[in-house]
Amino acid sequence: MTGPGAERVGVYPGSFDPVTLGHLSIMRRAARLVDRLVVGVATNSSKSPLFTLEERVATVARETAGFGRVDVVPFRGLAVTFAQEHGATAIVRGLRSATDLDYEGQMAGMNAQLAPGVETLFLLAEPALQPIASSLVRDVARLGGDISTFVTPAVREEVTVRLAQA
Ligand code: ADP
Repeated sequence: MTGPGAERVGVYPGSFDPVTLGHLSIMRRAARLVDRLVVGVATNSSKSPLFTLEERVATVARETAGFGRVDVVPFRGLAVTFAQEHGATAIVRGLRSATDLDYEGQMAGMNAQLAPGVETLFLLAEPALQPIASSLVRDVARLGGDISTFVTPAVREEVTVRLAQA
């Protein structure tokens, strides 16, 4: 429940295939706004992911180890249900552009009707990280480009190894 002194929980859902510096910035900033941030790593049903769900959970957990109270768990289904299951009062989303706002704003509106007790909390992307998207990181890496300004060194290594296996 959300009485005085109750723990404030936020959830941050996404696919994180792979997790980027943009995602990590949102996680670091969101973790400072809540008592506990639960990162929900989604099963990516639409496309075949580069990394398995288990791999993505482990990677995000490793990369957020220094961020304070951040839990990383797999999730499937509705973000509002995931939020309610974790006793969260906020769903955190990152906004990169007006296009993000269009889509995310509509989703936030529907989520507000589905679960009135859960707010969507938007954090603007840091300007330097605003262009980064997981799908573009995958494309650049597949085409032999350098992704070192988009992801951490460990994630870059994981992407390189995975693409070499393909
Ligand atoms: P999805 O699989 O739902 O597209 P993503 O894993 O790409 O989700 O992103 C999850 C969340 O992170 C979304 O709110 C998205 O807008 C946000 N996000 C993605 N990239 C960035 C970035 N570079 N800076 C800030 N937020 C971002």
